[in-house]
Amino acid sequence: MKVIRDIKELVSQLRKLSGTIGFVPTMGALHDGHKSLIRASTENNDVTIVSIFVNPTQFLPNEDLQKYPRTEELDINLCQNCGVDFVFLPSVEQMYPKNDIKIMAPQNYSSIFEGATRKGHFDGVLTVLNKFFNIIRPTNVYFGKKDAQQLIIVQNFIKTTFSDINVVACDIKRSSDGLALSSRNVYLNEEEKLSALKLFRSLKTANKLIDDGLDNSDTIIIKIKSILEPLKIDYVAITNRNLENISKVEKNNTLILIAVYVGTTRLIDNLWI
Ligand code: AMP
Repeated sequence: MKVIRDIKELVSQLRKLSGTIGFVPTMGALHDGHKSLIRASTENNDVTIVSIFVNPTQFLPNEDLQKYPRTEELDINLCQNCGVDFVFLPSVEQMYPKNDIKIMAPQNYSSIFEGATRKGHFDGVLTVLNKFFNIIRPTNVYFGKKDAQQLIIVQNFIKTTFSDINVVACDIKRSSDGLALSSRNVYLNEEEKLSALKLFRSLKTANKLIDDGLDNSDTIIIKIKSILEPLKIDYVAITNRNLENISKVEKNNTLILIAVYVGTTRLIDNLWI
């Protein structure tokens, strides 16, 4: 496995290769969620590249850019153990040269849910991904369903820029008690971890209600909110796969999206129905 920090160096190594390239973009502090994306890539591509880059442009000024967990050595070991070929760790200076171009995510996707609280977040995500896609030219790129809105915005970016990259959506990995794995879970103390279980509990209950035949979104949302209490709720929404609110659940075309604050930590979770 090669650990590369320089963009030109990576490009020169990659252009010598033939076969499929799988790319897993991450911000590091790798956990089993990331690992499942990496495994999906190594199993299905000739070459796998994992990027580790805490992208400053997707953080708002009041967010946790400085204190975001950084565990470079452990991350490199994890990649090595997973059969990754290249770990790419560029610097902020290289990724953001002078007179930089910014990609704007479409308003209808980027101003709602995560984008309503985190203005400009998805512009930062697409701006950095566009750079990675040009550097790496991947065949397949791997994203988690955990960040449902991000996944939908990236799929739309690929489609509307006529890019021939294939987006692979990977299932949400959870700890044994149901908490969706996230690099930000390290911010939670023991008591907060217990409160955070309400997210999955509320989604499981919603799933059961839907299995039992309930399809009214408002009723399901009220039930979810009652389970989440007393957590501070940012949003609970039921949408179709195009992020449009829907009044009735449709099988295979529904997303239940949740964002709450557990203490000062903002957590998201979702269910694909
Ligand atoms: P991040 O490092 O948080 O930017 O995440 C990198 C990728 O890993 C994104 O595509 C995430 O959606 C994905 N990811 C993060 N947590 C999980 C999880 N618990 N299960 C599956 N994928 C995840």
